[in-house]
Amino acid sequence: MPDAGMAGTVPALTQVLAAIVGAEHVRDDESSRRLHSGDIWSEAKEPVALVVAPDNLDQLSRLMAALHEAGVAVAPRGAGMSYTSGYIPSVAGTVSLDMRRMNRVLDIRAEDMVVTVEAGCTWVDLNNALAPLGLRAPFWGPMSGLTSTIGGGISQLNAMLGAGHYGTSSESVVAMSVVLADGRVLRTGARGADGDTPFYRHYGPDLAGLFAGDCGAFGIKAHVSLRLIQAPAAEDYASFSFKTGEALMRAMAATARAGVASEMCAFDPGLTKVRMQRASMSGDVKALGAVVTRQKSLLRGLWEAVKVAKAGRNFVDLDSYPLHIIAEGRCAASVAHDMATARRLAADHGGKEIENTIAKVIRAMPFPPLNSVLGPGGERWIPIHGQISLSKAPALFNALQELFAELAPEFERFGIRTGYLFTSMSTNALILEPVLYWPEEKFPAHDAAMEPAHAARLPVQPANPAATAFVAATRKRIIAVFQRFGCGHFQIGRAYPYKESRDQASWELLGAIKQVLDPKGAINPGCLGLDSRKG
Ligand SMILES: Cc1cc2nc3c(=O)[nH]c(=O)nc-3n(C[C@H](O)[C@H](O)[C@H](O)COP(=O)(O)OP(=O)(O)OC[C@H]3O[C@@H](n4cnc5c(N)ncnc54)[C@H](O)[C@@H]3O)c2cc1C
Repeated sequence: MPDAGMAGTVPALTQVLAAIVGAEHVRDDESSRRLHSGDIWSEAKEPVALVVAPDNLDQLSRLMAALHEAGVAVAPRGAGMSYTSGYIPSVAGTVSLDMRRMNRVLDIRAEDMVVTVEAGCTWVDLNNALAPLGLRAPFWGPMSGLTSTIGGGISQLNAMLGAGHYGTSSESVVAMSVVLADGRVLRTGARGADGDTPFYRHYGPDLAGLFAGDCGAFGIKAHVSLRLIQAPAAEDYASFSFKTGEALMRAMAATARAGVASEMCAFDPGLTKVRMQRASMSGDVKALGAVVTRQKSLLRGLWEAVKVAKAGRNFVDLDSYPLHIIAEGRCAASVAHDMATARRLAADHGGKEIENTIAKVIRAMPFPPLNSVLGPGGERWIPIHGQISLSKAPALFNALQELFAELAPEFERFGIRTGYLFTSMSTNALILEPVLYWPEEKFPAHDAAMEPAHAARLPVQPANPAATAFVAATRKRIIAVFQRFGCGHFQIGRAYPYKESRDQASWELLGAIKQVLDPKGAINPGCLGLDSRKG
């Protein structure tokens, strides 16, 4: 396994890598190295040695071959919008692969209903390229999609836009081209006579599935082909408020079973309070503008904006659990039918219909600026999530609440605030995502994510290691509750236990696959619990 063995060889390696990508795309300055050595949650004690940015698949393949030859650990990074230490260097001398130059939409084949992108393409760029053609990917992005990449989103799996109907990001994948640790290129799927026109995922065992949710540990995604659908012709929005989290869980489960929501997004009172505090007048104006342009005619847009502005925030009941539902379909009648079902199910579970402003804004601004990486007082933020079966969601929620009640005195002592985000995955799972906010100093990754004007307005928090240690311990306890309920997790990285939940045969298979794809254990060592140094 490559370890500190690079000491003294950095200049030589820099030359080799620069010959492949150009000297300006190999960075060794302190700020680039630090930025690539931290995510929203953690920072490595020892930063990466170099940051190298390939421009295309061929360069990526040659880079990987050179790094393999040099015996160097590699950490692929998309936009760095994750918080499970996936690309954080764990070995001295690690090279960070900055995938953001590989950001092109390569090929939109409307006739075949397939789009191929480079893995560093952002979700917003993909959607912008498809919109004029009236096309869309079934799952069309996480809320971080303004900067987060499709390669990152397939490697970690995603929740949110389109997930209510179509499930996670990887469920739209038709094929991938993956560069392995030694530079070989592995291409998945049925790919046409020329081998380069992917159109269907399943031809024998599902090789694309191997790389979906691997957190990068099995190889570097270079190209991703996604299935396309016609952009829905009609959409509608409704919001409801529930008195308890348990009632909300039951209503969301019933709505998921009915398959009527393309997105469901709900909050608890804690998160509502944080969101209200964060919202600024300028944010409201932007949201209003987005609501206007979303409508088909200017008049209709202005009318919607007037309604949204009039509703203001007066409709928000700070003690309730609001659920925002979006329905979409091929015609207004089918959407109206789905919405009628959603309304009936909400009412069956005690939901009271409220202004649908937030649901509208979610659609109008699907990829908002990433200002929520810090709390409204400049506090640090960490979400912890679990996927749960529909029937067990209320019990899981209650178990998490019990833990929060037990920890309440410590939360008070350390100034920790809590909230929840809830969403759904197709017709068969809910996601519960508790979030913690606590006073602690920020990382460069936070400033890189936020709009500069927003960042400048935030109070600056001083270092607070005692609070962070308590948050880290709480995060582990929350994950333990998820594990007790047999939950699944998307962004496993180095945060969620994976090996422990696999049977012996599965784990041996995964180890053998890693051995074949990355025999030196060089890519993201430790991710998914795979570390050839530790067996
Ligand atoms: C404000 C905010 C909102 C968010 N909203 C959502 C949301 O709505 N839904 C959701 O699911 N998540 C959300 N997230 C979490 C996060 O943005 C997503 O997980 C996102 O997919 C990360 O993409 P990225 O390009 O930033 O990946 P990174 O953070 O750069 O990397 C993630 C992992 O993928 C690996 N990786 C990256 N690119 C490649 C590649 N080309 N080949 C192989 N491995 C690779 C990395 O090594 C790492 O392990 C949010 C985060 C923030 C900060």
